[in-house]
Amino acid sequence: MSISNLPGHDRMHADICFEDQTLRDGLQSVSRLFTLAEKRKLVDRLAGAGLERIQVGSFVHPGRVPQMADTDELIRTLHPPHGVVISGLVLNARGLERAMACGLGDVALSASVSDTHSRRNANQSAAAAIGAMVGLIGEAVRSGLAVRGGLQCVFGCVYEGAIDADRVLDAAEKMAAAGARAINLADTTGMAHPRQVAAMCHRFHQALPGIELILHLHDTRGLGLANMLAGYEAGVRSFDVCTGGLGGCPFVRGAAGNVPTEDAVHAFEAMGVSTGVDLDALVAVVADLEGTLGRRLPGRMAGVLRAARTNTGDCGDAPDG
Ligand SMILES: [Zn+2]
Repeated sequence: MSISNLPGHDRMHADICFEDQTLRDGLQSVSRLFTLAEKRKLVDRLAGAGLERIQVGSFVHPGRVPQMADTDELIRTLHPPHGVVISGLVLNARGLERAMACGLGDVALSASVSDTHSRRNANQSAAAAIGAMVGLIGEAVRSGLAVRGGLQCVFGCVYEGAIDADRVLDAAEKMAAAGARAINLADTTGMAHPRQVAAMCHRFHQALPGIELILHLHDTRGLGLANMLAGYEAGVRSFDVCTGGLGGCPFVRGAAGNVPTEDAVHAFEAMGVSTGVDLDALVAVVADLEGTLGRRLPGRMAGVLRAARTNTGDCGDAPDG
């Protein structure tokens, strides 16, 4: 029986919530520019697979990230099915203006807790960037938008090494005080390990009761899924994912993508945790992305199911002696 045939399979009754960021975190890392029609089709297929939330782009300077230049027009022309939330990433005041102008109802507003990372990407200190973001969160909340605050480089920074957890919690508290009811902690450079994730989640829940914690975990060192499960065991129920594990960061050399959506779906469903996502529909999206990009993506489950279909035994296991 395939996972998609398991009982209780629909996004309304899922135990956890995934936000698929293939169109943002994924596509910003590939040089090929996807057309609006291709992006719309990708949104439709992810929504059709059961993804509850889809981040479709960011509002950054088109000269800096040309892959995201048409985010406004994409959002204006999307007609997502009922129950699917479309979100966009905002990194500055101009971005928030654009998000509101195109009618987006759900925004992620994010700043880095690493001073060096912030100076390189946002041209200001982490303290200044977080202060500015707290102001924008207040503005977005007052405008009636659903807001997710976000912090980058939470679990370490390639420039600065370890990041003080107190600094992270202090910034998260400021975002919550400004009205964010959900806060995303990002392992931007994939430096987290499971015990560190668990400790951070416990501290977050103690310091910020009632605020939803979302984890955004890059798989740079192969610990993305392990970190996600550590977060789950620590009570987190919302995670960012990227179909195929597409991604990386245009500003961090050697970075890998987020936890592959299909691998996260498989892991949770195998443990009896309902995701509301149809794995077969999702791996069909992976196959199409691989065809379009002309390369295999790092996620595992598409290859596993492909092998299972071609093996005469159909046991899903590759023969390895
Ligand atoms: Zn990311």
